[in-house]
Amino acid sequence: MSTSSSYDLLVVGAGIVGLAHAAAASERGLRVLVIERDGHAVGASVRNFGHCCVTAQSGELLDLARAARERWLSLSSAAGFWSTAEGGLAVARTAAELAVLEELSAARPDGGVRLVGAHEARARIGGSLDAAALGAAVLEEDVRVDPRAAVVGLAAWLERQPLVDVAWRTAYLGPADDGGARTSRGVVAAARTIVCAGHDIDYLFPDVAAEAGVERCGLQMALVDAPTVGGAAMEIAPAVLTGTSMLRYPAFSTTAAAAALRTELERTHPELIGIDANLMLTQRPDGTLLIGDSHVTLGTMPPFLDEATSSTLLASAAELLGVERLTVRQRWQGIYASSPRAPYLVADVAPGVTAVSVTSGIGMTISHGLAQKVLDEHLAAG
Ligand SMILES: Cc1cc2nc3c(=O)[nH]c(=O)nc-3n(C[C@H](O)[C@H](O)[C@H](O)COP(=O)(O)OP(=O)(O)OC[C@H]3O[C@@H](n4cnc5c(N)ncnc54)[C@H](O)[C@@H]3O)c2cc1C
Repeated sequence: MSTSSSYDLLVVGAGIVGLAHAAAASERGLRVLVIERDGHAVGASVRNFGHCCVTAQSGELLDLARAARERWLSLSSAAGFWSTAEGGLAVARTAAELAVLEELSAARPDGGVRLVGAHEARARIGGSLDAAALGAAVLEEDVRVDPRAAVVGLAAWLERQPLVDVAWRTAYLGPADDGGARTSRGVVAAARTIVCAGHDIDYLFPDVAAEAGVERCGLQMALVDAPTVGGAAMEIAPAVLTGTSMLRYPAFSTTAAAAALRTELERTHPELIGIDANLMLTQRPDGTLLIGDSHVTLGTMPPFLDEATSSTLLASAAELLGVERLTVRQRWQGIYASSPRAPYLVADVAPGVTAVSVTSGIGMTISHGLAQKVLDEHLAAG
């Protein structure tokens, strides 16, 4: 890193939130330095489903997600990482789940939520689905990327942009006395700093995080082989969501029908409610499936994976797909910043320094939209 250079903007963190800000700022003609304490991104942005869950958002989040959707597709083509606009599929296996989907579909008369029968739902996910399926909603605005490739691909593309430098293994330590920033490799001169440190906002700015009610949410995930149907590996084009997803994402959870669904799931699936599951899956381009997830929110996250939680998720995913068992390749824990008060945090933490953290588990969905908003509102003001 050349510490003698002077930048218009320093971005801390090469997860999706930081990269979204760097891409948007360089497009505005700003000279940008991204610093990342690791050798490549290993945080929440590579541990997730890669699901830009647009359709199930509401209000401002839907606007941010729609803006992000367009950015994902254009950046995918510019930077050369894989994406798909095949949408999502929310599967209903009970009348209560179907009622949520029907209500959402009716609330979107302009489209975006298309109800299909069990036969079409099964066909869309490779020919096998829980025999209990009654139907599904196609979530037409959803897009997906492979999280492990997209964030790396976006960072590599940014490194090739004339206005952007990326310094790996360089940790942000705090604002410098005379502007700019102190880093583990010296002082950086920058007119403005945007800190996108994910859940580590609580290390860097503990008072800001505490004031915003930010804790850490730990999620268990698994990578499994694509199951086979009739000798062929299943091809699952959409992101697949279930009843537990309908309790989580606002466009579902704010329907009148969601209350009855919660009561039903508490009675029929206490094991999923007990781990605060969002049972869903996505398929990567190599055919493997990302399966998850559970949620535990704490100030400090224990590092230990719980095998009973993994077993519950894997058995439930196998049941959803109508297959006997799934073969696990990898398991891991992901952590994101979480606050019950707001879906994201944008705070001016020092002169010229703004902290940005998505505090609701939808960073892949809204980051590109949020970055534009932050630059509009905070850079202009600075
Ligand atoms: C299991 C799981 C599944 C999820 N599924 C989805 C999904 O399908 N769709 C969706 O929209 N969202 C999903 N999310 C949420 C989404 O992944 C996060 O909201 C998003 O990745 C947060 O991005 P980030 O850049 O803020 O954080 P991170 O990806 O964690 O990046 C923060 C970066 O900052 C760096 N950093 C921290 N401190 C410093 C420092 N002092 N100096 C330099 N660098 C620093 C870290 O090393 C890290 O690389 C999921 C999250 C998890 C964990």
